[in-house]
Amino acid sequence: MDFEDSPAEAAFRAEVRAFLESHATRRTGTDADWSRGAMNEDPQRQRAYVERCRAWMATLYDNGWAGITWPKEWGGRGGTPAESIIFNGEAQQFDVTTGFIGAAQQLVGPPLLHFGSPEQKERYLRPLLRGDEMWCQLFSEPGAGSDLAALATRAVADGDEWVVNGQKVWTSEAQHADFGILLARTDPDVPKHKGITFFIVDMRSPGIEIRPLVQATGLAHFNEVFLTDVRIPAANVVGTLHGGWAPARATLASEAGLIGGAGLTSTFDAVLTLARAQGRTHEPLVRQELARVYTNERIQRFLGMRMQTAVMHKRGTPPDPSVMKNFFAGSLSLRTELAVMLEGAAGMLAGADAPQDGFWQRQFVGQFSARIGGGTNEVHRNMIGERALGLPPEPRADKDVPWRSLPRS
Ligand SMILES: Cc1cc2nc3c(=O)[nH]c(=O)nc-3n(C[C@H](O)[C@H](O)[C@H](O)COP(=O)(O)OP(=O)(O)OC[C@H]3O[C@@H](n4cnc5c(N)ncnc54)[C@H](O)[C@@H]3O)c2cc1C
Repeated sequence: MDFEDSPAEAAFRAEVRAFLESHATRRTGTDADWSRGAMNEDPQRQRAYVERCRAWMATLYDNGWAGITWPKEWGGRGGTPAESIIFNGEAQQFDVTTGFIGAAQQLVGPPLLHFGSPEQKERYLRPLLRGDEMWCQLFSEPGAGSDLAALATRAVADGDEWVVNGQKVWTSEAQHADFGILLARTDPDVPKHKGITFFIVDMRSPGIEIRPLVQATGLAHFNEVFLTDVRIPAANVVGTLHGGWAPARATLASEAGLIGGAGLTSTFDAVLTLARAQGRTHEPLVRQELARVYTNERIQRFLGMRMQTAVMHKRGTPPDPSVMKNFFAGSLSLRTELAVMLEGAAGMLAGADAPQDGFWQRQFVGQFSARIGGGTNEVHRNMIGERALGLPPEPRADKDVPWRSLPRS
């Protein structure tokens, strides 16, 4: 691995540090950090958190730090992946986050940048980057999650518009979104991957009904979205008609990398602080578990460093995004399980009754979503088998069968 900055990178890092020092405060790893507030049942505090995320996105944009690798013409910095890694590494030490709005930006940006029409780029990219408009991802359906290409939401042409009917589920933050990226079936007579179109939909269109789903954390992070005769202008097709699988893949690739690189709200240091505060660092079992958490976090960090070496110094191969995603989910589980155990009997309390305002309890319950969202751990293991290990692919009996002829529940 190679962690030395070139002179140009060192100068860039100094510029990043100066910007962060003058616009943010350092992360403390305690409740005092506003960036830890993503999971709070109190609607007012949730709203305040979202507003701070938006404000931070606007600060980044207004100071030329948003979308480091995005072209300048669409509001980005026109920088390199290495600069993006440097910026993210430095920002991790500060009490800042772009939260779900920033995550949505990373799901919506790649398909629009690579497949969007000039008009779509002109209309949507800058407000997306600045956090002025919020987006959601309308992909998964009750019968199409891991097997996303089986999706059944239908779009039928009517003059200059498409009329959409169907149901989406697990749509994160749809209740706050201005726009959504939507996959719908436009040709049922060809194999499943080939008859899908990628649309931009205005979430305030008549016929869209959003029903929040309350999760075990007590939060309604995601939703069911019902679409009944929703009219979408033909100009909102992204990429080619029936060719929606290509932009969808751009989103999915970005999503796995995004989740694999996440998880800063709870760290080994935070667990160690908790163990010290509970006076339990002398216990052999606690020491052993702390060592496991530490080791996993180090491995995760090394994977990140391998990625950094490959991107910045063109040496070695970057780790597979599926490896990073699954490692992230596993590390998160170890950390949160130990933290709740350390809290002892009080660890069984919930919400404001629990220690630290229920921070570790929310992290503990929320860990399960990391194993499912962005593709389940099992599906990523299949990808590791095929891509990284060269194992034979899963049998795909439906590959050449028209979607209309596939058995569906
Ligand atoms: C927090 C969170 C946020 C999400 N946000 C969004 C969003 O904003 N937009 C959106 O469109 N979707 C979203 N999702 C949905 C997510 O993409 C799906 O939940 C995921 O792809 C799994 O699909 P599924 O839930 O239908 O499970 P299924 O596909 O039904 O899987 C059920 C079980 O079968 C296993 N399985 C399935 N196929 C295979 C296989 N080939 N090999 C081995 N095991 C297999 C799975 O691992 C799983 O254990 C979100 C999910 C979560 C948890």
